[in-house]
Amino acid sequence: MRIGADSQRTGRGLAAPPLARRRLLALPLLAVLPAEGLTQGLTQGLTQGGLVIGRVAPGTRLALDGRALRVGPGGEYAFGLGRDHGPEAVLTVTPPSGRPEAQRLEVAKRDWPVQSITGLPPKQVTPDATALRRIKLERERLATARATDSALTDFAAGFVLPTHGRVSGVFGSQRILNGEPRQPHYGFDIAAPAGTPIVAACDGTVTLAAEFFFFGRLIVLDHGHGVNTLYAHCSAIGVREGQRVEAGQHIGAVGATGRVTGPHLHFGLSWFATWLDAQPVLPSVTG
Ligand SMILES: [Zn+2]
Repeated sequence: MRIGADSQRTGRGLAAPPLARRRLLALPLLAVLPAEGLTQGLTQGLTQGGLVIGRVAPGTRLALDGRALRVGPGGEYAFGLGRDHGPEAVLTVTPPSGRPEAQRLEVAKRDWPVQSITGLPPKQVTPDATALRRIKLERERLATARATDSALTDFAAGFVLPTHGRVSGVFGSQRILNGEPRQPHYGFDIAAPAGTPIVAACDGTVTLAAEFFFFGRLIVLDHGHGVNTLYAHCSAIGVREGQRVEAGQHIGAVGATGRVTGPHLHFGLSWFATWLDAQPVLPSVTG
């Protein structure tokens, strides 16, 4: 069987429990904590590539490394830590009637594997001038979609698996394409036959539905507070920009469009411009 370009064999299969059960399994940690106890409840996501989802007393103000975070009406918040984040982040917590308090968060370091892929068409590894112009415009469109800063709090309900298949690529690996070093792999790949349904991993709004040079047909969903998911290499797209979708709703189909060597879903998770590892927030594949 051929595998996706941004893929590697791990031998792990994806179990396929019913959607409702997977939704329950996906519930993230959402403890309501007093501001001073905020970091005590944060046991998930404090790693490089981690998405942190939590809840504080409504009215609390938060900032991560000096950047203000949205706090939802129920106290929901989210932030992400990049693949190459340093060993520490500073969360500033200002209770509704209190003084700001800086809390140091320890960010666990991860080791990223090296992944070598050969057999890609040369024009997809080293694009020509025309392709480069197109790629630049597409990067800008994608950056705009991912910069969406909405008040939605859909992210707080957790995530479901976007499709069924075999894990064929992991987040963070250093890529070597046809022998040339390239940027790391910023997605989670699931290999599946072309036409396999893709569902929204979380309630959200479609911010991008287009066909790109590298990603092929892709969809981006906004889940609020900068949290978004991306579905690439689709054979078909069944939603339009601006449309509201629900977790588990059919939005497209697995395909081999863009830079691939075989059909798979490249699933991306990000917090604004920071790509994150989707695997820890998805239901257990052995569940
Ligand atoms: Zn990928």
